[in-house]
Amino acid sequence: MTSLDLATNLIQVQRQIEQASLQAKRNAQDIQFLAVSKTHPAQSIAELYQLGQKAFGENYLQEALEKIEQLKDLEIEWHFIGHVQRNKTKHLAEKFAWVHGVDRLIIAERLSNQRPQNLQPLNICLQVNIDDQESKDGCRLDEVAELVEKISRLPNLKLRGLMVIPKPEHLQAFTTTKQLFDEVKQYHAQPEQWDTLSMGMSADMADAIQAGSTMVRIGTALFGARVYSNQ
Ligand SMILES: *Cc1c(COP(=O)(O)O)cnc(C)c1O
Repeated sequence: MTSLDLATNLIQVQRQIEQASLQAKRNAQDIQFLAVSKTHPAQSIAELYQLGQKAFGENYLQEALEKIEQLKDLEIEWHFIGHVQRNKTKHLAEKFAWVHGVDRLIIAERLSNQRPQNLQPLNICLQVNIDDQESKDGCRLDEVAELVEKISRLPNLKLRGLMVIPKPEHLQAFTTTKQLFDEVKQYHAQPEQWDTLSMGMSADMADAIQAGSTMVRIGTALFGARVYSNQ
């Protein structure tokens, strides 16, 4: 991917988000855009950063830690969007600003305990298995209320909202997630802190924005196809 391609794709994605917002009668400023850089080199991240993109999402811890080290002079906001393993929480607590894939209390507790005191609270999204996929991560719908209540009490975390990865073509899941998000907001102890709905990827960002997403996670549309998968 050349620098020119990256710059062109960045503008394209921004334009797609603006158009989808317009159609949804929403303000494009209310939709954050996370550049999903898994499998792509630190060099490409640095180039996008120079063009103004500050938030990047990674899925694989080892790969992410290498890039974070290589790019430590840049003020990148790092998001971990992969599956969270219980024995890897320390690195996540120390190196990231956001973790999207929290789906169990024990994971949240470990992240809170391991968050260094000199850093801001770690931003968290609760991942919900919204369409009941057998192989997928995420808590069940009926676990959400209790998890929200318990995770919200942990001192070094800031629970911001929900994250979902619905089955392809299952657009109804976005609407269901938005309903769940609104429901939680009604009984949430600090509703102003409950402000993030992390949903939508390259292929379905317009539908996610239509349904109410506040953060889309975009890889392929920005970087092109992933050329290898290392895990
Ligand atoms: C890889 C990935 C994305 C980006 O998907 P694209 O289809 O490449 O835009 C978004 N979210 C998660 C959780 C991912 O793993």
